[in-house]
Amino acid sequence: MNRLVLIGLVGLGMAAWLGLAPPRALGGGDLPAEAEIRPVIRMEPAVTWLPDAPGEGRLFRVRVTASEHTPLMGVHGSVGGEELHFERTSQRDFESLAAMPVGAEGGVTAQIRAVYRDAGEGRLEARIPVTPGSYSHEALRVAPRFGSPLSETDQARLDSDRVLARRASARAHRTPRLWGDFAVTPRESVVTSGFGDGRVFNGQVSSRHMGLDLRGDPGDTVVAAARGIVEVVAPFLLAGNVVYLNHGGGVVSGYFHLSRQLVAEGDTVAAGTPIGLVGATGRVTGPHLHWVVRYGNVSVDPRSLVELADSP
Ligand SMILES: [Zn+2]
Repeated sequence: MNRLVLIGLVGLGMAAWLGLAPPRALGGGDLPAEAEIRPVIRMEPAVTWLPDAPGEGRLFRVRVTASEHTPLMGVHGSVGGEELHFERTSQRDFESLAAMPVGAEGGVTAQIRAVYRDAGEGRLEARIPVTPGSYSHEALRVAPRFGSPLSETDQARLDSDRVLARRASARAHRTPRLWGDFAVTPRESVVTSGFGDGRVFNGQVSSRHMGLDLRGDPGDTVVAAARGIVEVVAPFLLAGNVVYLNHGGGVVSGYFHLSRQLVAEGDTVAAGTPIGLVGATGRVTGPHLHWVVRYGNVSVDPRSLVELADSP
């Protein structure tokens, strides 16, 4: 865990930070033997994160630890603009998941608001460094060919697909964490295209793969990666037949190109529950599972969800 990089601390309600000594009767003209106003020292909590420099496009943990003499009632905050969801993990510790976005050069900023038990709040800001991701790039010798422009109908459908996906993310921010600390890979098979891999033309990344492709034949079973609520069951234009799960605490997962969905919106599923069958629906060249995991609207390498669940 990294030590706190404290950039700024703003005490709200400074009056609450000062304790008044008990009133004393003063003799005529006598000066008090000691100062009447004694400051109460409030120790700010420590913000740490794990790992020290989270990987680009990966989930990580943020921890806020109360100082010994200043108990906390609650902790709120955000990382890279995505709301955090702190839960108490011990007497003094609060923890939340967070995401390091792809392209976060120089890291992300955590904004933390600590609510003290005896009233008042403190604000902390910490800069979290990033470990750049290593992606494979397919170098194109000729300019990437773009498909014919989308028709108005297709563009409208693409927009409504995006609205559904974003709604799933918004709902995950409003749902308490449902998956505890257990997650699985939705198919035990070979990765055929990695997360974040890009196509490069003239030294420029022209497109990135924001999910993980897992090999599969049509009809192979796809299971839920973690416990969650089925948020979207729909045919999408590019992603084909999709299932989106809301795992709460800001986390969603998506399963694309299915030949069939086996669940209905509103169902609650456990990790390992079959939710669909591998297919080749949507814009694909062959059958496979495209698996996505997002923290809010930030796409992360889906494997970081499973690795996080495995780590203490
Ligand atoms: Zn894919």
